[in-house]
Amino acid sequence: MITIATILLFITILFLYLNNNNKVEYVYINEKTKKYHSEDCPYAKDLKGITLKNAIKNGYTPCKICNHNQPQ
Ligand SMILES: [Zn+2]
Repeated sequence: MITIATILLFITILFLYLNNNNKVEYVYINEKTKKYHSEDCPYAKDLKGITLKNAIKNGYTPCKICNHNQPQ
């Protein structure tokens, strides 16, 4: 039997999942190499943070070290 608590739990998990998918991702761009980096990449130090969308739009490609995932 499905209880109201089960339904509420399911809705909460679904909401968190959708919310997580819609979050804006930030990457760190190197204007010289035209690469973008994850926040935890050793090469991301002192680089400018922009949204992943903007990085791709401006022709940046993912760094080979941290290999920041492209959006699907
Ligand atoms: Zn990197």
